Amino acid sequence: MSLLTLDSVSARYGASQALFGVSFALAEGEALALMGRNGMGKTTTVRAICRMVATGGAIDFAGHDLTRLKPHRAARLGIGLVPEGRRCFADLTVDENLRAAARPGPWDSAAVAGLFPRLAERQQQVARSLSGGEQQMLAIARALMTNPRLMILDEATEGLAPLIRQEIWGAIRRLKAESGMALLVIDKSPSELSSVCDRAVVLERGAVAWQGRFGEMTGAVKQQFLGI
Ligand code: ATP
Repeated sequence: MSLLTLDSVSARYGASQALFGVSFALAEGEALALMGRNGMGKTTTVRAICRMVATGGAIDFAGHDLTRLKPHRAARLGIGLVPEGRRCFADLTVDENLRAAARPGPWDSAAVAGLFPRLAERQQQVARSLSGGEQQMLAIARALMTNPRLMILDEATEGLAPLIRQEIWGAIRRLKAESGMALLVIDKSPSELSSVCDRAVVLERGAVAWQGRFGEMTGAVKQQFLGI
């Protein structure tokens, strides 16, 4: 059974329409890549799921109709978002950021410290003084502390140095292997995505151009819709 189902979802920013009937489903524990070139609607799809943009169509999450909910309710149902641009509370310490997000479940301070030892060493440091990569780890750790059933990672390694990117992908792979959590992952690197995700949905101008298993993605699809 699907955990998340989008059925003919449209979205608009004022007069300008950004999504045109997007449909796909994500099963419990599955990792799905959301792909497409710049401006094709990946972040808008995430905003539609998280109730941050006006939408049409139907979005079901664990039997709840998300289109009827306000954003904070969607989060409480078990959707953890790591947004583009890694937003944390800049003036709070690492520990305070984590505690502000905490909800009951297996992901507590000790568990996220195991995933990101660098954060554990910086518990009392204010978020604004962390490096970009450490702030990204904190953004992921915060989402984990809400103990979600679905984690959405929007460009989690964008603009980071190669070594830190590897560290973050390593953590995402561990989440996939060990947590049983469903993942929706947006990134520019097809090779990293295919190392974590079972399937991919490819967007083109706000609509699904292709979806299927990574191994079935043809060269023509890659060239036409991803520019690879
Ligand atoms: P990127 O890889 O660049 O982040 P994306 O696939 O995530 O791209 P979106 O950010 O979802 O794409 O953008 C889809 C379309 O919606 C684009 O045409 C974009 O210009 C438009 N758009 C995005 N955000 C807004 C906004 N706040 N107001 C108006 N239009 C927007």
